[in-house]
Amino acid sequence: MRILSVVGTRPQLIKAAALQPALRARHHEVFVDTGQHWDDAMAGSFFGELGLARPDHGLGIGGGGRADQIGRMLTALVPVVEAEAPDAILVYGDTNSTLAGALAGAAAGIPVAHVEAGLRSFDRSMPEEVNRVVADHLSAWLFAPTPTAVANLRAEGIVDGVVPVGDLMQDLAARVVREVRDPAVLGPIARSLSAEAPGLAPGSGGASAPASGPASGFALVPGGYVLATVHRAENRDPAAVAGWLSILAAAALGGSRPVLLPLHPGTREAVEAAHAPIPDGVVVLPPLGYRTTLALQLHAAAVLTDSGGVQREAAWLGTPCLVLRRATEWVEAVAGSGGSMVVVGLDAARAADELARLAPPDAAPALAAARAGAVDLRPAGAAEAIAAALDGPPPAPRAADGGAGAR
Ligand code: UDP
Repeated sequence: MRILSVVGTRPQLIKAAALQPALRARHHEVFVDTGQHWDDAMAGSFFGELGLARPDHGLGIGGGGRADQIGRMLTALVPVVEAEAPDAILVYGDTNSTLAGALAGAAAGIPVAHVEAGLRSFDRSMPEEVNRVVADHLSAWLFAPTPTAVANLRAEGIVDGVVPVGDLMQDLAARVVREVRDPAVLGPIARSLSAEAPGLAPGSGGASAPASGPASGFALVPGGYVLATVHRAENRDPAAVAGWLSILAAAALGGSRPVLLPLHPGTREAVEAAHAPIPDGVVVLPPLGYRTTLALQLHAAAVLTDSGGVQREAAWLGTPCLVLRRATEWVEAVAGSGGSMVVVGLDAARAADELARLAPPDAAPALAAARAGAVDLRPAGAAEAIAAALDGPPPAPRAADGGAGAR
C-alpha cells in the first residue's frame, strides 16, 4: 500500500519513529511533516536521535491560532494528497495535525488510519479531545492502544475497523530502555544539563544557584531528583501555572532535591506571561531528547507530569508518578500501577501527601536503584500489528458515515 503519514508534533515524531521500520518493511510511506512543532528541541533533533526518515513534504506550518493553523494545514495538505494519490492516510494521536490529516483524507475520499484511536477524557473543552473524536469518526482503521479505547469507540457506535494493537510508544520505550538502565548514564546527562541551564549549583543535593551565578557543574544521583513536564492548555493560565509551580516547589523540599523541568516552549511563554517566580530547586531546562527523558524518568525519585506519553512511560518503568490533570485517558496505566500513579490535578496538599508516600527522600535512592535493576520492558508489538492490518483492504465504511461525501 501507498500510505501517506502525517506528523507535526514531538509525540507524533516519536510515534512515527516507533512505527516507521515496520511500516516501511511492508508498505511505501510518503512522510509528511506539517511543522506544527518546528524548532530543533521540539522536532528537528528527533530525526537524528530516533533514526526517522526525512519528510518527503515539509509544510512549514507552525504558530497561529488553532482554527487558523488547522485551516492552513488542510489547505497545504490537499494538493500533496492529490499529487501523491495514496491508498490511505495515516494520522497519530490528537493534535491539530491529526485533525487536518483526517479531514484531508475525508475530503479526498481516501481512507484514514488513526493510531491511538478511542482515547477519551470526556472533556470537550480540551482541543485534543475534539481532535481525536473527529479523527476517530472519520477513520476506516482505528488502531486502539487499550481495552478502554476499544470500549469508548463501541460506546460511540464504532466497531468496524477497530483493531486493538497495544501501545506503539511501548515498542519504542522497550527498545531504548536497555540503553539507559545503567545509572552511570546520569553522569553525561548531568554534564550536558549543566551546559543547558546556567546557574545550576554543584552537588547531588543540587539546589539551584541564583540565576546570575556561574554554571559550575551539576550531579544527579538515582532517586535524588524529580522530573516534571507540563504542557497542556489547561495548565497554562496564570492560576494553573501558580498551582503546579507550588506542587513542584514542595517536591523540591526547600531546594534540597532538584526538580528538573524541561519546558515546552508554550508553557515557558505561559510562565513568563504569568510573571510566576521559579521556586528554589526547580531547574528550568529546554526540551530534552527522547533518550535523556527516558533515562531521567527511570532513575528519578518521581515524575510529575500532565503528558500522556510521559505518564505511560513512567508506568512502564515503574517510577512513581503524579498526574497533574483532573482526569486521564490512560486509565489502565493508573489502574495497573498498584498505587504508584495518582491523578492529583493541581491539589497541592494531595500531591505533597502522595509524594511523601511514594518517594520519601530517605528511601527514594534505594527504590530507584532497585527499579532500574529490575526493569524488563517488553515491546507491545503494536508497530507490527498496525503494519500488518494495513495489508488488508480498508474495512467497509460505517453506515452512519455513508452518503455524506457530497456535502
Ligand atoms: N519528551 C521528550 N523530551 C521532553 C519531554 C518529553 O522527548 O523534554 C518525550 C516523552 O518521553 C514522551 C513524549 O515526549 O515520549 C511525550 O510528548 P508530549 O509530552 O509532548 O505529548 P503527549 O504525550 O502529552 O501527547
